[in-house]
Amino acid sequence: MRKVYLDHSATTPVDPEVASLMMTYYTEKYGNPSSIHSFGQEAKQALEEARRQVADFIGAKSEEIIFTSGGTEADNLAIIGVTKAYQKKGKHLITSAVEHHAVLETLEYLAKNGFDLTILPVDENGRVSVEDVKKAIRPDTIFMSIMHANNEVGTIQPIAEIGRIARERGVIFHVDAVQSLGKIPVNVDAMNVDMLTISSHKIYGPKGVGALYVRKGIRLAPRAHGGGQEKKRRSGTENTPGIIGFGRACELSQERMAEEALRLEKLRDRLLHGITERIDHVKVNGPRGSERLPNNVNVSIQFVEGESLLLSLDMLGIAASSGSACTSGSLDPSHVLLAMGMPHEIAHGSLRFSLGRQNTQEDVDYVLDQLPKIVERLRMMSPLYDQVKQRTLKAL
Ligand code: PLP
Repeated sequence: MRKVYLDHSATTPVDPEVASLMMTYYTEKYGNPSSIHSFGQEAKQALEEARRQVADFIGAKSEEIIFTSGGTEADNLAIIGVTKAYQKKGKHLITSAVEHHAVLETLEYLAKNGFDLTILPVDENGRVSVEDVKKAIRPDTIFMSIMHANNEVGTIQPIAEIGRIARERGVIFHVDAVQSLGKIPVNVDAMNVDMLTISSHKIYGPKGVGALYVRKGIRLAPRAHGGGQEKKRRSGTENTPGIIGFGRACELSQERMAEEALRLEKLRDRLLHGITERIDHVKVNGPRGSERLPNNVNVSIQFVEGESLLLSLDMLGIAASSGSACTSGSLDPSHVLLAMGMPHEIAHGSLRFSLGRQNTQEDVDYVLDQLPKIVERLRMMSPLYDQVKQRTLKAL
């Protein structure tokens, strides 16, 4: 059976070159980077080279990079670390309604523990308004977290403008760039950010590795105490092979990004147009064109359940998602689609395809061939769709 993986926003395969480099650091160059002997120093040197590669990719300095166990930990470290360090200055925090749960739930935890949280709404395309940001900032606002690109609908936020306002008003600005890294340019200076989260497994690196960028001068209270690694900001023996893999994955992404983004954009538009042409009662979720990640397609197909669609696609070898990786196991409608004003019943039938390096035009055409048949079969079982069809026939 043909296998088509279209869930690259959930995770990506590790680049074979990255995997083979990592293997050396598991089996041959396995020293602890904190050890002073030659094994340790060899590992330390490679770790610092990876730090430089990661920093280069986002326009940062090496000493501004803290390695973590992934995007979730980096988001937690940014939010808890900064609020703890600056709580005497103020207790007001700002975020948006479409953030990843790693940001939203961490901020909601703080809101239950003495902080005051403003959650900004988004428009029908999932975009935060710069005017709303301006209005939300108060004299006691210390921290704001707005994601670069959304993991479900691919909406790219006006980060540079929001960052400029945050800087003018003295608010520390954190950006979750887990989904944008490797797909569109990410540069901490151009984007006016103070802190930035990235994750290795979304850019063909290993799982369980990520980083938090912290601009020089920003104070951060550590979450993990112990051996004092990462300049005392994240204790624990470093995942050396993982970090080295992440560094090389950054370099490879940097080399390929411009060309790959153009290729993916073409595939994305072919898939989007193909679906809306071949299936009726379909809504495209999120913006079109350059305000959307080049690899993201998200549609709501009315009168069918998202879960049934996913299972039927899976039986034909097509891997897609009904929302974010973490929530696709739950039957709740996506908080992102609800925040964009979509009614519950339509949010339930949403489907995300996220394209990646291995995908070809043949993959897209296979989906375009199979999906209409699946939808037709599922709709035959839907009493609601039957009523709509009868009404349309009567009107003719
Ligand atoms: N932030 C966003 C926007 C994500 O999409 C994800 C993962 O899907 C995360 C954070 C969490 O990253 P990790 O899986 O590395 O913990």
